[in-house]
Amino acid sequence: MQNVRWKWAGVALAAVAAVILAAGGAPTKKPPKKKKTSGQEIDNAIAAGLDWLHRHIEKPGGRWSATGFSKKCEIKDEKKDKPCSNAANMQGGQYDTGITALAVMAFLGNNYCRMDVPYGMSALQGIGHLKGRVGNNGAIGSQSDEKWMYNQLIATQALCEAYILTRTDSVEIAAKKAVKFILDAQNPGSGWGYKPKDGKPNTSVTAWALCALHAAKQAGFNVPWAVFRGGLAGFAQMRPPTSGVIVSTATGGDRTNRKNDDPKTPFRKLHTVSAAAAYAVICAGKKKSDSKFKRAVGIIIRDTPEWLVTKEDCPINFYYWYFATNAMYRAGSSKWKKWKKPLHETLVGSQCTSGCARGSWDPAGEWCSAGGRVYATAMAVLALQTSYRHTLIEKYAKRLQGK
Ligand SMILES: [Zn+2]
Repeated sequence: MQNVRWKWAGVALAAVAAVILAAGGAPTKKPPKKKKTSGQEIDNAIAAGLDWLHRHIEKPGGRWSATGFSKKCEIKDEKKDKPCSNAANMQGGQYDTGITALAVMAFLGNNYCRMDVPYGMSALQGIGHLKGRVGNNGAIGSQSDEKWMYNQLIATQALCEAYILTRTDSVEIAAKKAVKFILDAQNPGSGWGYKPKDGKPNTSVTAWALCALHAAKQAGFNVPWAVFRGGLAGFAQMRPPTSGVIVSTATGGDRTNRKNDDPKTPFRKLHTVSAAAAYAVICAGKKKSDSKFKRAVGIIIRDTPEWLVTKEDCPINFYYWYFATNAMYRAGSSKWKKWKKPLHETLVGSQCTSGCARGSWDPAGEWCSAGGRVYATAMAVLALQTSYRHTLIEKYAKRLQGK
C-alpha cells in the first residue's frame, strides 16, 4: 500500500482506506493546517500525474489496464522497488476502454497529442487504441458487461476531443460512428440507460452522454438540439418532485460496485449524481443562470474536496470531484474561488511522491475498486486541468469550424 503524504506539512498519514479499515485501526489525524497551493505546484502535480500515466501505458497496444498496469512498473532493484499497488478488482478490466479514454483526455487537456510534445506518443497510442475499438456500428469495445455504456460514452468524448485537437481524418471517422451510436441509443425524448433504448434512463449515464455529445457538437458533428432537450427532459423525469436537487439520490447513485468493495468502507454520502447532472446541464446548452443548475451548485458547494480516511468517514470521491469541479468552474468566479482552493490543496497534497507510484493518486475512494490507480490518477489530473482544458478545447473547436 502506498502512503499518502500531506505535502504542506511533510507528514505521512498512516495508510489508505483499506489498510486502516481492514485493521479496524484508529481514525487518521485531522490534516494539518493547509497553505495555499501555488499555480506552479498545481502544474507540477499535473505533469507528475501525466508522467505516471505515460509510464504505465501498455506498449504496444496503447491501452491503460485497470488491473494490469503494475506490469509496467519500474523495478530496477527487486529488493528495494515494489510495483505500484491498488489495481482494480478483476471486474475492473471491463472498464479498460473507459479508463484509457480518461487517460487520453488527461493528455489532451495539456494539448499533448503530437509527436513533438511531451508524452505525445502515449496520447497518440491511446487515441489509436480507442479508434481501433470502434466497430462498424459505432459501438466501442465489448458490450458484455452490464455497464459497458460508460466505456462507449467516455471513449466517444475522448475521440471527439482528439479530433478537435488533431484534425486527423481517421479519428474523425471513428468519432462520427461512435456519436451516431449514442444518438441511436437515446430513449426517445429522454435520457440514456445502460443499454440502447432500454426505456430506463439513468442519470449518470445520461450525464456522460450529454458530455460526449457536447464534445461532438464542438467537433462540428451534427447533433440536433432536440437530442440535448431530450436528455434534459430525462433528468426531469428522474427527479422526484420533492427533491431539492436535480436528482434525489444523496448516495452517489450507482451502487453496483459496492459488492466488490469492503462493505465496511464508510464512503461519505455525496451528491455525486447531481454534480454529474449539473455539469451535463451546461453541456446541453443551458446557462449558469439555469434554475436547476443553480440549485445543484448550491448543494454541491457544501461538500468541498477533502482527503480523509477514518473508520467512520471517507469523503474521497474522484467521480464527484471531477464533475463537481467542472460544474463549479462553469458556475462563475465566486463559486469557483470557493471550490478551487480545497480542490487544489486536497489533490496536490494527496499525490504520491515516491517510488514508481510518484505522480499517481491512491484509489481510496468510492468506485475506485473498479477503476483502480489509473482511474484515480486520470480523474485527478482532469480535475486539476479544469481551468484551462475547457478554454483549450473551445479555442481549437472554433478554429476547426472556421470561427
Ligand atoms: Zn508503477
